[in-house]
Amino acid sequence: MSYKYSGKCLCGNITYVVDSQPIIVAQCHCTECQRLSGTGHSVGAMFLACTVTLSGKLSEFKYSSSQGSEVTKVFCANCGSPIYGKNSRMPDHLTLTLGTMEDTSKLNVEVVIFERDKQHWEQFGQEVVAFATQPDWKPED
Ligand SMILES: [Zn+2]
Ligand SMILES: [Zn+2]
Repeated sequence: MSYKYSGKCLCGNITYVVDSQPIIVAQCHCTECQRLSGTGHSVGAMFLACTVTLSGKLSEFKYSSSQGSEVTKVFCANCGSPIYGKNSRMPDHLTLTLGTMEDTSKLNVEVVIFERDKQHWEQFGQEVVAFATQPDWKPED
């Protein structure tokens, strides 16, 4: 059986396969996604939950959204990689983090949400100095 998408966390404890196409791919700048990712945004692909099969030991954290629904964020219990999120408003769906997915070459961000919370240091589509890998740089002492 071949699956459409697969993924894993940083340590490899969590693996998943998906047998459907995403309903939508969204980039979110909300403050919760900033805390969760430790960066300026998250990128996730929403799928029908029944088409996603996960294995490995997960850990989760729940909070209330500004709209009053319950949001659950699910992580690898070992390395802490964010794996997926779900919202009680859409109990049949879950949103997998795009960074944990194996081959995302055919996926594109279709919508940006909570742009009002975007940090000024998030730079998209602007001229920035880019490195192919990590530059050889040390903080000056
Ligand atoms: Zn892990
Ligand atoms: Zn968010």
